[in-house]
Amino acid sequence: MPQEPSPEFLAVERMLQANNTAVINWNPQGTGLMRQSVQEKKTTKATKNLSTTGGTVYDFVDPPCGTWGELTRWVTQLREKNQSKRNNWNVRRNHFGGLMPEMNYVVTDGRDARDFRYTNGALYKENSGQEMRLSCQNCNTNWVRSVRQSAAGYANRCPSCGTTDRFSETGPHNITYGSLTFPVGLASNPTCTIGFVNLYGREADRMRNSIRPGVRFQARFYGKAGWRTRARPTNAQGRRPSGRNRYEKYNYLNMTLGSAAYNQSASSSGFITIQ
Ligand SMILES: [Zn+2]
Repeated sequence: MPQEPSPEFLAVERMLQANNTAVINWNPQGTGLMRQSVQEKKTTKATKNLSTTGGTVYDFVDPPCGTWGELTRWVTQLREKNQSKRNNWNVRRNHFGGLMPEMNYVVTDGRDARDFRYTNGALYKENSGQEMRLSCQNCNTNWVRSVRQSAAGYANRCPSCGTTDRFSETGPHNITYGSLTFPVGLASNPTCTIGFVNLYGREADRMRNSIRPGVRFQARFYGKAGWRTRARPTNAQGRRPSGRNRYEKYNYLNMTLGSAAYNQSASSSGFITIQ
């Protein structure tokens, strides 16, 4: 039976996080240490070019800290929708994701998922990559797609008028763009990290200074099922498992604001509003 955190500690933790102070060594007894995070968020150069996010898994179990909460229904519907592919699910071919319902979220520090990269807030990176630029011959709307999407014939539908395969295309163009990644939980269960948000370009730059642990916001994301790898904790003897047992997978949601092609109708486009 996990011990309930003391209400006093929770109140202090919330207040400190709202002031950009990380609470470290958090434990249910509420004897964690507090540390003021004064340093500027680090900007690192990405080691990869514009990446396509990896495949999505069908066998998608609850996060280690509990359930998908108010998102359970959405996950269930996604699974039912893909039921027929279940037995021959191919992570490179099948896509397990969709537009999520509007929800209240809180930025977490990722610690409950044993991910320690976000204790001082979101990670901002500068990336370089390539994009293809498209222009609709019907309504002159411009949009972009990746080189890989271009080669595969994806994202060929005008995000404005819906016309398919009637566009001019140039590229590949070399681009640099920011990306912002941060862990989130549902506001109703703020100590359970259920996913990681990735923002790119203008959204990343705009939200960069506003995202820190404890910040609450409303959002509609495009979510994909995924898993990450993390180091296993030490065992009862205080040793870390070695070899192939050193790492374990855990389920999470990969959340973005969606692409222009997906957000065709204004009524179902992704957004973030910090309250
Ligand atoms: Zn068009």
